[in-house]
Amino acid sequence: MTERPAASTADTASTGTTDSTTSGSGSAPAREPRPVRLRGALDAVPAYVAGKPAAATPGVTAYKISSNENPYPPLPSVLDVVREGAAQMNRYPDMGVSALTEALAQRLAVPAARIATGPGSVGVLGQIITALCDPGDEVVFAWRSFEAYPILVSLAGAAPVQVPLTSEARHDLDAMADAVTERTKVVLVCTPNNPTGPSVRTDELEAFLDRVPTDVLVVLDEAYLEFVTSEDAPDALAIHRARPNVAVLRTFSKAYGLAGLRVGYAVAHEPVAEALRKAAIPFGVNSLAQAAAIASLEAFDELQQRVDELVAERARVVAELTKQGWDIPDTDANFVWFGVGERAPEFAAACQAAGLTVRPYGTDGVRATIAEREANDRLLEVAAAFPRD
Ligand SMILES: *Cc1c(COP(=O)(O)O)cnc(C)c1O
Repeated sequence: MTERPAASTADTASTGTTDSTTSGSGSAPAREPRPVRLRGALDAVPAYVAGKPAAATPGVTAYKISSNENPYPPLPSVLDVVREGAAQMNRYPDMGVSALTEALAQRLAVPAARIATGPGSVGVLGQIITALCDPGDEVVFAWRSFEAYPILVSLAGAAPVQVPLTSEARHDLDAMADAVTERTKVVLVCTPNNPTGPSVRTDELEAFLDRVPTDVLVVLDEAYLEFVTSEDAPDALAIHRARPNVAVLRTFSKAYGLAGLRVGYAVAHEPVAEALRKAAIPFGVNSLAQAAAIASLEAFDELQQRVDELVAERARVVAELTKQGWDIPDTDANFVWFGVGERAPEFAAACQAAGLTVRPYGTDGVRATIAEREANDRLLEVAAAFPRD
């Protein structure tokens, strides 16, 4: 019989010196426990305030109009693909996301090498920041704008440089160009802007891009592209083709109705796109999301009808609010902005009392998503009854 080795010296050594005399008692070494060392950058990371779920009031249908989701249920054709895909969820997804990348390349008429996917466009934006920013680097963006921007930038140890919107709740692109320094690695342009609604105009964007150094990446975040109707809104892909430092960020979460599955993408010139693929979390885009995104691209005409209905509802809501005397910023997205300032909590509470969960932003204003007709009608009723001076 082979001799069983005695307790290894490594085991004994690892228990430490104070422990060796009380071997077998299981007592911990007598030393001051020190907390594990977290990154200091975390102190600067603001918490994401997500849109709250709809709150039930007896006898009233509650609507969640706080997260800009698509109010329509998934298309049957997309749901079928997801159901089928669920039977293989014991397998890892295609890490290269090749079929979806190919489908996007064809649809957008760009080389597949320019596409980088991720778990939602928030995930892709995380890849962008990771790929471009070292601690201390700066990322310029408008404020208010998308809630996730300061979080992702701070998380990387980079510095968010927030440039106030104009009085019309638009990007101040001149001021943003002025804010670019030697440390600026990325500028984020949210068009249309979440949470206020306006798109940037083509001419002002071109003038801005002429001023930004060509080694600074400008990201055009087009999460709401499908809802855009302004004639002077930019053709982001065309601008991307003409300028090597321009990337376009898009998502399947809003018009395509796949917010819960998490898939988005960037179109960027090759050295950048390759860096974004490198910075991706392996297998970050799950197999159901990949399959559903492809099926959604194929069902685009059907989805377009829903988008058209929401855009028509948006026009109706804005026209009615204007008639009521509200000054609503031009919106190219699936939401409207009430710039009620300090009365934001009060306005949100009035909506809540009517069964509408909206999204208040501190003491700036309230964003309400265009949704089912009944929800929109109720929003109009609350707005009409809200006392204003
Ligand atoms: C909703 C939204 C996104 C998309 O988020 P996903 O991670 O793709 O769900 C990106 N940018 C803006 C401005 C948004 O409002």
